[in-house]
Amino acid sequence: MNAQRKILCPVCQVNFILKETKEPGEKVICPVCGAVLIMVLKQDQIGLERPKDISLEDEIRQRMDNFARFRGYRFNEMKEALVEGLLKKHQRFGDFYCPCRIDNIQENVCPCIYTRQGDVEINNRCHCGLFWK
Ligand SMILES: [Zn+2]
Repeated sequence: MNAQRKILCPVCQVNFILKETKEPGEKVICPVCGAVLIMVLKQDQIGLERPKDISLEDEIRQRMDNFARFRGYRFNEMKEALVEGLLKKHQRFGDFYCPCRIDNIQENVCPCIYTRQGDVEINNRCHCGLFWK
């Protein structure tokens, strides 16, 4: 595996530089959205996939915890209701779309593009009130 190569996050769709050498099956955390991902090898190409061996709840909790840690954000008592909302969205629409937004589109997958682009810095919180400054 080559170090210092760009790899696509299947959650936030951003290419990031993979700094460490990883082998297929190893865990990688997206530095942009915090998603926990697994390195896979497909037709001699390395790629990342969402883990299949953890529950959906663990997947979204790990992602939001990583993202908050990277950015220095915190949660408050609204967190549990929003985790539930995200799980319901996944159940109905197939992905962790923001429970507070109507459109179930890629940009609204948690952490949504607005949050990733700095909404919390401007408003002290994300649209939902999941992430707080
Ligand atoms: Zn990502």
